[in-house]
Amino acid sequence: MNKRFDNIRVVLVDTSHPGNIGAAARAVKNMGLRRLYLVSPRDFPADRAVWRAANAADVLEQAVVMASLDEAIADCGLVVGTSARGRSIPWPMLNPRECGEKIWREASDHDVALVFGREDRGLTNEELHKCTFHVHIPANPDYSSLNLAAAVQVLTYEVRMAALAEQQEPYQHLNDWDIPPAKVAELELYYQHLEQALVALGFHDPDNPRQTMTRLRRLFNRIRLDTMELSIMRGVLTAIQNNVYRLTGANQRDQDKPRKVD
Ligand code: SAH
Repeated sequence: MNKRFDNIRVVLVDTSHPGNIGAAARAVKNMGLRRLYLVSPRDFPADRAVWRAANAADVLEQAVVMASLDEAIADCGLVVGTSARGRSIPWPMLNPRECGEKIWREASDHDVALVFGREDRGLTNEELHKCTFHVHIPANPDYSSLNLAAAVQVLTYEVRMAALAEQQEPYQHLNDWDIPPAKVAELELYYQHLEQALVALGFHDPDNPRQTMTRLRRLFNRIRLDTMELSIMRGVLTAIQNNVYRLTGANQRDQDKPRKVD
């Protein structure tokens, strides 16, 4: 059981108030987790974080500070992003209970991240689109935005409940898969490759992207490619590119520049 807790990380993105970092560390430890990742915290290390962490100072000391969300989730096979409100384009959703169960179940196979946003603005759409699932705590619709550390508390509690439920009744792995899921960093390279191939094909215009790449991300995100499927798809894209180059001349390669997702 302990080993599995080590595969679960709470990621706080761009946190403004060190008190919230301390309180989140406390919530993490209270619920039996240990790993806290801080992406570009505004003010850290800070005394206020230590005060609010109380007896979870060890979690704070071991917190991993990183410059980007990409780095913080690169080796994860499941990433759940939190959102206090609905977003422009719907994404596969979990409720907090399903979220706790899914995180606990998958943590036996690979690293899992639960990602929290900024106090004032939450996570950006671009950050949310890097996540496998989104979770929303169904709070009062007139005021659904919880304090950051309170949201960490609620969702880590659900992970703990899933862990305790399993102690009573061993969890059946009904959905065992033969191949591990593709990791975030591999998927990012795949999306770049996909965009290059679509540009080479003349299907996608990076200067007028609309939401094509976001929608394709969502499509592949829903399917959750495993590593073997991902390498097959990379092979398909390379074959498409090679044929396009053969038909149109090698200078098409100049178009193979990674673009920002719309
Ligand atoms: N005004 C921001 C709210 C940010 S609250 C917005 O509209 O997005 C800070 C963070 O706490 C959020 O990014 C999220 O990680 C978490 N959070 C707050 N309320 C939540 C809720 N109801 N469900 C899930 N996460 C929530």
